[in-house]
Amino acid sequence: MKKVVKFGGSSLASAEQFHKVGEIIHADESRRYVVPSAPGKRFDKDTKVTDMLYRCYEAAEKGESFSNHFKAIKERYEEIIHGLNLDLSLDHEFDKIEEQFKAGAGKDYAASRGEYLNGLIMANYLGYEFIDAADVIVFDENGAYDDEKTMEKLQPRLQNTDNAVIPGFYGAMENGKVKTFSRGGSDITGSIVAKAVCADLYENWTDVSGFLVSDPKIIFNPEVIETITYRELRELSYMGATVLHEEAIFPVRSMGIPINIKNTNKPEDPGTLIVESTCRQPKYTITGIAGKKGFVAINIEKDMMNSEIGFGRKVLSVFEENGISFEHIPSGIDTLSVFVHQNEFEEKEQKILAELHRAVNPDLIDLEADLALVAVVGRGMRATRGTAGRIFSALAHANVNVKMIDQGSSELNIIIGVSNRDFETAIKAIYDIFVTIQL
Ligand code: ASP
Repeated sequence: MKKVVKFGGSSLASAEQFHKVGEIIHADESRRYVVPSAPGKRFDKDTKVTDMLYRCYEAAEKGESFSNHFKAIKERYEEIIHGLNLDLSLDHEFDKIEEQFKAGAGKDYAASRGEYLNGLIMANYLGYEFIDAADVIVFDENGAYDDEKTMEKLQPRLQNTDNAVIPGFYGAMENGKVKTFSRGGSDITGSIVAKAVCADLYENWTDVSGFLVSDPKIIFNPEVIETITYRELRELSYMGATVLHEEAIFPVRSMGIPINIKNTNKPEDPGTLIVESTCRQPKYTITGIAGKKGFVAINIEKDMMNSEIGFGRKVLSVFEENGISFEHIPSGIDTLSVFVHQNEFEEKEQKILAELHRAVNPDLIDLEADLALVAVVGRGMRATRGTAGRIFSALAHANVNVKMIDQGSSELNIIIGVSNRDFETAIKAIYDIFVTIQL
């Protein structure tokens, strides 16, 4: 049995947290490959080391003195080293980093040092081999992750290594320049390592006991999702869930490796298991509810639209040419609506409207702003009659006016458009009907 374990920033923010992590790793000898993040927040108002590094480098780049920023970063690591009683000095590393900052090594290099240094500490603490991610995670000349070249380097490197620490979040281009993933990218590194060693399980340790059925800012103490499929998660993460970086599922998914989201502070909790497919019945008909505010609908009307070949393409090409992606395009016989993010649309609004007029000569274009989209997701919906009926009667009882309905062809999700001001009420009503009351 081989497991890859990734620990997030809050799991490694202090010596005390490192202790918990050490216990977790030693409790199961199949936890052989460890991917650490940089130290995160120790308390609410604290600053993540990654943010400290960005700030420090910004000062260095402007030619300002950065010694205070640098000292504060050093202290974060020294606190951990002393708290763990390690016989380790990072002075030499810090001298090198300071030099590189002065030489303009780049923002990505700066941010990556958070994981790099934490990886050195972790390897020393566990007695595991340290593998610099810059040697094994490859980015191409455009800065995009290169999976093929990474596997060529990483697989043989890990094949003969029983236990290793590989810092998350960064790699390097072939010219040696360090490159990071987007924020939260250590999740992606963990997934890549799991793929490379063909792990049985990728454990992603964080500070919550898994994915919640809905947003705790809206629902008081929502239930944890026990098992979720990759496809369900995609539908939910796209609508705003944040526990796992949304690109982290792709490397493991291609190999059918499950991900287990676990809580470092409550290791006994089962967490959420993310799988390719499962015959485990979900606890409720729905797996999760997520949503987002801030959409605008561009409603286009034209008589005989349905018989005009190329109408949809012409409309969408206007959005494409303006660099705006659309979320949904519900349509009627003579109407077509395009849902887009309001903040992206607003600045180009008049230009897009003029171009739509020129492209399809509509009878009417009408805008409806301040809309929210709510996604109700669940593999259990396919086999259950009346799910849509229950959702809409719950919304009607809660006095929520439904503006748009879109059921994906997979029957895995139902997307509902409501007014921004009805967003929370809508989510509550749907949660109650399926989870609290369990109709
Ligand atoms: N430390 C990086 C960040 O704060 C990457 C990570 O934690 O995954 O975004």
